[in-house]
Amino acid sequence: MKVGVLALQGNVPEHLRALAGLLPRGDLIAVRYPRELAEVEALFLPGGESTTIARLLRETELWEPLAVRLHEGLPVLATCAGLILLARRLAPSPFGRDPATFGVLDVTVRRNDYGAQRESFEGPVRVEGLSGPPFPGVFIRAPRILEVGRGADPFAWKGSEVVGVRTGTCWGTTFHPELSHDLRVHRLFLAEARRH
Ligand code: GLN
Repeated sequence: MKVGVLALQGNVPEHLRALAGLLPRGDLIAVRYPRELAEVEALFLPGGESTTIARLLRETELWEPLAVRLHEGLPVLATCAGLILLARRLAPSPFGRDPATFGVLDVTVRRNDYGAQRESFEGPVRVEGLSGPPFPGVFIRAPRILEVGRGADPFAWKGSEVVGVRTGTCWGTTFHPELSHDLRVHRLFLAEARRH
């Protein structure tokens, strides 16, 4: 299975590093152009700055083909800013203008809802389907999932708060599995994507 990491801005090297340990060399590519997107059978959307990633998606003419692939059911793991870009609804953020979104994940999220950079934090996350200790969740200027619609299912929680949601193989998390040295979420997603 050929796997891509959208490589326009944000935690791209971290995702590539995590995935390099899980995939044969030739199966992993950085996606910067439509021709690269066309090759992949699963995609990671990294954290970063959703407004910047949205702008770069337009500039590189990736927006339209990515929208098509997402609506066709391309397996995707989107973290933080990536989740924002997949969300069906954004509640207005107190921190400036919100980006356009692909709307494939039936959730309402609000950007930066835990506060600014210095309110970033780490904490244990319970992930459905993972055995062993809680997953070390890293939250950086994270969005908050305010509402999960009927079309999506929660799969990760910090306390009672939903921090991961999915529809089939379209997954979004408000934390950054690429920033903890724990590959279990990447592995779990790849197993699902392969089954798909
Ligand atoms: N606050 C960022 C945004 O709104 C997301 C932060 C992140 O991806 N770590 O896009």
